[in-house]
Amino acid sequence: CGVFGVWGVPDASALTALGLHALQHRGQEAAGIVSFDNERFHQHKGLGLVGDVFGDSRVMATLPGSVAIGHNRYATTGGTHVRNVQPLYADYEFGGLAVAHNGNLTNSATLKQALVKRGCIFHSSTDTEVFIHLIAISLYTTVLDRFIDAVKQVKGAYSLITLTPDDGLIGMRDPLGVRPLVLGRMPGYEDSNGGWVLSSETCALDIIGAEYVRDIEPGEIVVINSEGLRSLRPFGDQGGRFCVFEYIYFARPDSVLEGQPVYEARKRIGAELARETAVEADVVVPVPDSGVPSAIGYAAESGIPFELGIIRNHYVGRTFIEPTDQIRNLGVKMKHSANRPVLAGRRVVLVDDSIVRGTTSRKIVDMVRAAGATEVHMRITSPPTRHPCFYGIDTPEESKLMAATHTMEEMAAVIGVDSLAFISFDGLYRALGHESRTDGAGRYCDACFTGDYPITLVDKEGNLVS
Ligand code: 5GP
Ligand code: SF4
Ligand code: MG
Repeated sequence: CGVFGVWGVPDASALTALGLHALQHRGQEAAGIVSFDNERFHQHKGLGLVGDVFGDSRVMATLPGSVAIGHNRYATTGGTHVRNVQPLYADYEFGGLAVAHNGNLTNSATLKQALVKRGCIFHSSTDTEVFIHLIAISLYTTVLDRFIDAVKQVKGAYSLITLTPDDGLIGMRDPLGVRPLVLGRMPGYEDSNGGWVLSSETCALDIIGAEYVRDIEPGEIVVINSEGLRSLRPFGDQGGRFCVFEYIYFARPDSVLEGQPVYEARKRIGAELARETAVEADVVVPVPDSGVPSAIGYAAESGIPFELGIIRNHYVGRTFIEPTDQIRNLGVKMKHSANRPVLAGRRVVLVDDSIVRGTTSRKIVDMVRAAGATEVHMRITSPPTRHPCFYGIDTPEESKLMAATHTMEEMAAVIGVDSLAFISFDGLYRALGHESRTDGAGRYCDACFTGDYPITLVDKEGNLVS
């Protein structure tokens, strides 16, 4: 998901809609904005892309105020229903409260069971609603204390933006900082103490002309209101375990994550991959869009020419965000076409970011062969995906992960390639500025590749016992 918030700028909801548009790649199922005009909250949410939900100026006119938060939904828990669209808004003892959440809690089912027993009535099937109930029933006497009380009870990955009448915007990253969140500022609002922006990625600061200030630190809470910005660290410093897959695939290439430009990181991953998995070939072809920066790096390092041998239709969303297998299969055909003159009679190196179910790769390879390629060598910029993500990226269960159920040779045969290779862990960590995975140990989450989950999977372990 993508989260975005603005404090102290006129027409905050218009900036929020623009920010969400720049974060569209993080979720395409639904979008929502909640604004506050110093008296009342206003909200609008809908299924579909940001442009579909907020493209009408009459809709924007219903969202007045100089404070707003927004959310792009990519379902990891809960189905595709309007009542699951965020930001979630609720009235409680201290007035209104809106929450936008990127990530996934690992103990939400356990907490929800206890909350329901105490009489809480849930309106959505998202894990995010747990935050609202924990804040509403907390015995502390300020919103901020209740917020801290709530986050101390949850486990999992979360980047949160909360909108409250008195404490303004509250932004937070979970203690290990698995999902990103950055702080920005609109120039010209220093005197009024306003202009603050929170965003999942820096690409959304750029679109509205905000300057990047810094990343929110793992475990840090920032409170933004008329008194300025305050930072709290109730969890101390536990070191970060940022999601390595944000670098490989999820984030937009023009974003800067924890000080590293994503585009440069992807090019370096491609170069490492070329050194590790060299093969004689005539062209390096990316599977667009996610494979493009790393294929540029691969081509430069190998000396094999880079060509756009596959053309992507941009009017189709990321295939894996579509909820059913049937739609996903349709989506793949709608999305990619072979560029025949580049492929015919050539030995092709195909570069892609990951193999999850394997359905995309198989279709792409069939298509490339049908266009006349004489050899197809698949190169993947992540290690094999063998485990599900429980922290906010929608990888399917283990039984559906091709690398969890097939050997390397079986995978190559099913996908139909002449050779198949993945980047090594050390190669990946080298591309991110470390000497090896051991050298970078404890810096990232890489659980979907290693099975080393840095945050306990409370619900899952509970399920295993019962
Ligand atoms: P698949 O192997 O599942 O057919 O698709 C792999 C490609 O689609 C990758 O290049 C990646 O861009 C994207 N992708 C497809 N499904 C998923 C998924 O469930 N999770 C993630 N993280 N990426 C996926
Ligand atoms: Fe990222 Fe994989 Fe960790 Fe999920 S399991 S947070 S996708 S590295
Ligand atoms: Mg892809």
